Amino acid sequence: MSIDIECVVVGAGVVGLAVARALALSGRDVIVVEAGEGIGVGISSRNSEVIHAGIYYPSGSLKAQLCVEGKQRLYAFCDERGVDYQRLGKLIVATDDDQVVALQRLLAQGLRNGVDDLQWLDAEQARALEPALSCVAALRSPSTGIVDSHGLMLALQADAEASGASVAFHTPLLAARCIEQGFELQMGGAQPMTLSCRELINCAGLSAPEVASRISGLPQQHVPKARLCKGSYFSFSGRAPFRHLVYPAPESAGLGVHMTLDLGGQARFGPDVEWIDNIDYRVDPRRAEGFYQAIRRYWPGLPDDSLQPAYSGIRPKITGPTEPAADFIISGPAQHGVPGLVNLFGIESPGLTSCLALAERVITEIH
Ligand SMILES: Cc1cc2nc3c(=O)[nH]c(=O)nc-3n(C[C@H](O)[C@H](O)[C@H](O)COP(=O)(O)OP(=O)(O)OC[C@H]3O[C@@H](n4cnc5c(N)ncnc54)[C@H](O)[C@@H]3O)c2cc1C
Repeated sequence: MSIDIECVVVGAGVVGLAVARALALSGRDVIVVEAGEGIGVGISSRNSEVIHAGIYYPSGSLKAQLCVEGKQRLYAFCDERGVDYQRLGKLIVATDDDQVVALQRLLAQGLRNGVDDLQWLDAEQARALEPALSCVAALRSPSTGIVDSHGLMLALQADAEASGASVAFHTPLLAARCIEQGFELQMGGAQPMTLSCRELINCAGLSAPEVASRISGLPQQHVPKARLCKGSYFSFSGRAPFRHLVYPAPESAGLGVHMTLDLGGQARFGPDVEWIDNIDYRVDPRRAEGFYQAIRRYWPGLPDDSLQPAYSGIRPKITGPTEPAADFIISGPAQHGVPGLVNLFGIESPGLTSCLALAERVITEIH
């Protein structure tokens, strides 16, 4: 069986669904092909569900631009489509004088990125907001929030489908080749078939480099090596005494073991940083020890035996532990020379926050 369609999006995570929605709204004929059994079976259901403000990322980077723009778009979209969220705000805390310097740098970075509502708090002001906190200073970000990520994906899918897009599950892309005016795609699953399309958008998350490496005709120097960086979470039994999200001053590969709340008010801590070779989502209970130590720096009252292994997510890194963090990569024809193809690589945090802005950027990169 061979089907011809204008546009194929690979992957039904939050980014693929946002891209499919934007393409469908622009009047294109779109199909999303997803290897798994439903939407959001990859990174998009294994994260902190935080709407980030855009503080941390280097000025002018895609992460900085798309996070700040994406946050505004996301809050507006959630209001419009009834997706559950809470704008709780967050405190980033310094627990010693060295971290105060790091926090000052973060404040300056946030301002450069256009995050103009940050507030500097001394220890007393921070404790007035969160009495259980121990810190010497804190940065308050009122525009940080949490979102129902699955509700968000359902709303994106519904919008895309209302504009004529369809989503095919159990339909992995096995290989592709460039043909005149587009691509021929070999699809696997229960009903293997050939698809042809004019535009191909690779939003395959952790597998995006592998998918790109199977596109014959794409020069392979445009495909980065995938690196896997796991982050485990532990949940807190009982009610944590915080109203804000609480983050430590950031670490190298992640944002530090932070405390986030879900929409039901339940606290969880994580993600930590563990470089791995193979996908394995099991949470090792022995990692709890590191969590108690990290959390007690800012919350000395964390009770013994109060943390339980919860879940883990894997960051789709494209640089290794000793290299500088990479920016998002939106690799379109201007980079690799193949018309109609856009590969998204390294869409780690803040990819959830940025999804709507990323989708708009993809459209401008297709030709
Ligand atoms: C631990 C962790 C915490 C995070 N916290 C936050 C946060 O608080 N805020 C924030 O903004 N961002 C956060 N992020 C980042 C955010 O979760 C991701 O950027 C986002 O979910 C990526 O979505 P995606 O659609 O690109 O990937 P995915 O959700 O992984 O979707 C890719 C899809 O492609 C499918 N696929 C793969 N190969 C194929 C194939 N060959 N054929 C068809 N389908 C295929 C997969 O099954 C999958 O469903 C976090 C990430 C991690 C790992």
